[in-house]
Amino acid sequence: MRVLKTKEEVSSLVGQLKSQNLKIGFVPTMGALHQGHLSLVKSGLDVNNVVFVSIFVNPTQFDNAQDLEKYPRTLDRDVELLQTISDSKIIVYAPSVEDIYSDNVISTSFSFDGLEFEMEGRFRDGHFDGVGTIVKRLFEIVTPNNAYFGQKDFQQLQIVKKLVEKYDIPVKITGCEIYRESSGLAMSSRNERLKTEYKKEAPFIYKTLKAAKVKFGTKSANKVAEWVEKEFAKNDLLELEYFIIADVETLKPVKRKSKQKKYRAFIAAYADDIRLIDNIALN
Ligand code: AMP
Repeated sequence: MRVLKTKEEVSSLVGQLKSQNLKIGFVPTMGALHQGHLSLVKSGLDVNNVVFVSIFVNPTQFDNAQDLEKYPRTLDRDVELLQTISDSKIIVYAPSVEDIYSDNVISTSFSFDGLEFEMEGRFRDGHFDGVGTIVKRLFEIVTPNNAYFGQKDFQQLQIVKKLVEKYDIPVKITGCEIYRESSGLAMSSRNERLKTEYKKEAPFIYKTLKAAKVKFGTKSANKVAEWVEKEFAKNDLLELEYFIIADVETLKPVKRKSKQKKYRAFIAAYADDIRLIDNIALN
């Protein structure tokens, strides 16, 4: 498998591929790959000739220095895992911080029409400026025809769609289903760091989301939120940061339900010092 380290190598290869009219798919990741990431790569392989997978722990999207430092970095294992799907059609781009940022490791400021102020935006300072900065830069380097993002990070997915629309970037964005462990826990690179008792308890998040979905059929968003908060208050291991039912287009919390709109419920919770997020479609 080709593992490229610099943007020059990527540009040169992309030039060759495009001169042969080949379709390029792209899956940006921070590595520590799992089956959730692989499901995005597989979607990419279905409709593109080649899929680039970037593996880059982007410093500007972390608001917490410890979280950045502790983020797992497992490039050799990641490459092995990708090889189980295809050796010749996947190209890894694993740049250094200098290759992406030179010596200026800062974010650009973006407006995503308010999407950036909800949920994760309220709890992770500067996070979406960091995401916008890295995704835009990677799109400029890889120039993919199609790019794949997980619904696991639903707010990020909507923000990337907004980025592409605002900057007129010629790439089609596809949102992929959340891939779960058999326990229901959404797969995440952070799960590896969960101590046994927390790992055992973490499926509670999805269980609660599923129950919230049922309750939303007959109850108001406020009533459902009250119920979820009570359930978490009874849980000794998981600490709820937020539960929100939001309109999928604006990501604003729903006040009064409308049959014309689509909603999702979102949770962020701490298991020990590890922050987990998950969400579910409600209608
Ligand atoms: P990350 O490496 O965590 O930045 O994730 C890279 C991409 O994989 C993002 O688009 C995520 O939304 C997606 N992703 C992460 N976990 C999952 C999952 N469990 N199911 C589907 N997509 C995922």
